[in-house]
Amino acid sequence: MTGIIKENIERINHIKDEVALKAGRSKGEVLLCAVTKTRSVDEINEAIEAGITDIGENKAQEIMDKYKYIRPVRWHMIGHLQTNKVKYIIDKVDLIHSVDSKRLAEEINKRAAQHGKIMDILIQVNAAMEESKFGVAAEDAKNLIDEILASCPHIRIKGLMCMAPFEDDPKSTAVYFAKTKQLYDKYASEIQHERLDFSILSMGMSHDFEVAIQEGSNLIRIGTAIFGDRN
Ligand SMILES: *Cc1c(COP(=O)(O)O)cnc(C)c1O
Repeated sequence: MTGIIKENIERINHIKDEVALKAGRSKGEVLLCAVTKTRSVDEINEAIEAGITDIGENKAQEIMDKYKYIRPVRWHMIGHLQTNKVKYIIDKVDLIHSVDSKRLAEEINKRAAQHGKIMDILIQVNAAMEESKFGVAAEDAKNLIDEILASCPHIRIKGLMCMAPFEDDPKSTAVYFAKTKQLYDKYASEIQHERLDFSILSMGMSHDFEVAIQEGSNLIRIGTAIFGDRN
């Protein structure tokens, strides 16, 4: 073990707290979720030993392959989720970040009911309206939330997630994060429901997490800045 993973985690923890403080928020308010896709069990456990409490994967298969070898931790499904894969991860993950259709929500609801659990989810918003990206259009998000609250008693909506388009200058992404934060605040104040409990705004990756925190993110999803480049 080289200790590089630990050093990277300490550096990111320091930066995220500094940025939050500068933005007038409190230290420790932003959760660091380590994105472990393509990483080995040893690398992941090293990160957990270094203090990581939350890990994110983007493929159901990888969660299934690694699950039993990883120390106790909270699991996040952060990638696009096919409906036929929901049944494999429903009993393993603590939060699904990528709900963007009623069909997916209904499948999650059905599988959660079979396991007698309430599944926490985020609505993924496609703030930049990129054709290549998943996520519900900002103007359709309210509708999707209403539908889920009406027909999915085994789902609790905890907030929103967004992925900004890649920009050479991360500052250019501020507008997408700001737009998502606006929606987040609006829904949190306007929608009253026992299964809507907004407390998570998942925004920011290795190259743009500082901007995301400045714009209000309280959960950052970091892979390369912790583990190095993916092959
Ligand atoms: C891979 C991935 C990340 C992390 O990306 P890095 O640039 O490696 O930090 C964050 N969110 C999602 C949805 C991802 O798929």
